Amino acid sequence: MSDYTKYDIRKLQDALAKKDMQLAAANEQIAALTEMALRHGLTPQSSKSPLGYLSSLITEQKKEIEKLQQELKGERECSWRQMLEIRNIEKPCRKCSGFGVITYGDTSTWRGRIGGQSITADICDHCWGSGDDIRHWMNLKTLFISKIKKSTTTYNLEK
Ligand SMILES: [Zn+2]
Repeated sequence: MSDYTKYDIRKLQDALAKKDMQLAAANEQIAALTEMALRHGLTPQSSKSPLGYLSSLITEQKKEIEKLQQELKGERECSWRQMLEIRNIEKPCRKCSGFGVITYGDTSTWRGRIGGQSITADICDHCWGSGDDIRHWMNLKTLFISKIKKSTTTYNLEK
């Protein structure tokens, strides 16, 4: 097991965001310089052109971004595996990937009734929070329905 932490992922995300911004700035610069160079009859292949230099800088930046993205992917994968190990998950849930939580399109979530139009995170309605595709936790929908039936029966008996 590695010692990757959430902090490492954040650091990588920050570095990636910074690189993305640098790349966007470099792209803007190259666009402006391309326009200028074209007016003076220069091409990126020309040794006199600053475009050749800028192009190589951009290529370098893109390589760095790719490297960071790979690192980030690796760290995420590692953290995910750690989470599965900590939660003692044999087979990750096909719906929530082992997190036990998913996002629903509205506030009714797993209840599936009328809900507000807001993306809402709630317990996974496949594994019911266990995160395991083999061992599900208590089905809240079934529990909810049985409670409603029970309360109706009690109500009828009292009448
Ligand atoms: Zn699940």
